[in-house]
Amino acid sequence: MASYKQTCIHCGTLIDRDVRFCPTCGSQSPFGYLCPSCLRPIAPGQPLCAGCGRPLYVSCPHCGEPTFVGERCDRCGQSLMVRCENKRCGALQFFQNQRCTVCGKKCKAKLGK
Ligand SMILES: [Zn+2]
Ligand SMILES: [Zn+2]
Ligand SMILES: [Zn+2]
Ligand SMILES: [Zn+2]
Repeated sequence: MASYKQTCIHCGTLIDRDVRFCPTCGSQSPFGYLCPSCLRPIAPGQPLCAGCGRPLYVSCPHCGEPTFVGERCDRCGQSLMVRCENKRCGALQFFQNQRCTVCGKKCKAKLGK
């Protein structure tokens, strides 16, 4: 069976398309950005998510500068993701998410101070 490879948009590594995360940089969306709330594909430069209407630019909890809702701050490079507290889940969630998009548990974890 032929396996198709595609480049990770974050680090440029060629990875299998059926892999859910990049083994090099650990990104969970190696082939494109997804809305952190509704998981629809989004593109940098888009102001709002077309699916749920959430703003796609937020202030970084680390440096306070506006950043796209990717996995890392555009300015300071710090992670914008927190791990779901449900031990059986452990999915990385955007720091503003109220609920885990995988298991539905309320997210209490906070980034920064
Ligand atoms: Zn990568
Ligand atoms: Zn959305
Ligand atoms: Zn920052
Ligand atoms: Zn979870």
